Amino acid sequence: MVSGMDIIKRRIAHLKKTLEKALEIDETRLACEIKETGFKCIQCGKCCRQHYGDNTVAVFPFEVWRICKQTGLKWKDVVIPTPSEDMDSEGNIHTFEWVLRKNGDCIFLEGGICSVYKNRPYICKTYPFYLYEGRLMVCECDGHGKSMDDLESREMASLLKERYITEIKESISLLEKFNGFSPGGRGNVCVHDSEGEHWLTL
Ligand code: SF4
Ligand code: SF4
Repeated sequence: MVSGMDIIKRRIAHLKKTLEKALEIDETRLACEIKETGFKCIQCGKCCRQHYGDNTVAVFPFEVWRICKQTGLKWKDVVIPTPSEDMDSEGNIHTFEWVLRKNGDCIFLEGGICSVYKNRPYICKTYPFYLYEGRLMVCECDGHGKSMDDLESREMASLLKERYITEIKESISLLEKFNGFSPGGRGNVCVHDSEGEHWLTL
């Protein structure tokens, strides 16, 4: 019988292979693909607003810390755990991601401008692009129909590769620290991330 620990070990091994491939992604080729999509950000801010669709921004712990440092806000004022229905034997909720707080729109959108621009998360920096199994994916947004210049597309390729590698490394760290959905922490919600377990009361 395959145990939960075996499944995690297999998942980590798979992620390590994915990481090796990610490190070999050809940025020049990726930059050409990005340029061919015909996208350039027109800074309309719609991706930060609720009115235009899902504006959920998942963030890594180090990204939360950077925003806390810049703004002076506490962790709990920057992010919330992603909703989850996973429970342990005592009824505590377990989840795996943090998302930026919203008041409908992202709380960091001020007067149409990102107030944490320098420290905005990878998802924001690379929108509308992401890499899935190493392949370029593009979301809908108002910037289509324009085109980046060579430098911009190279910078986006570099960022996208960096984001993809970071996602894989964060997943590996999370799984290496994951001890299952065990009760016992101080709170009723546990977020499992690359730092380990964060218990909080909601
Ligand atoms: S990424 Fe797209 S939706 Fe977001 S600000 Fe730029 S053009 Fe607008
Ligand atoms: S962090 Fe900045 S770029 Fe990202 S959703 Fe919020 S306001 Fe928009």
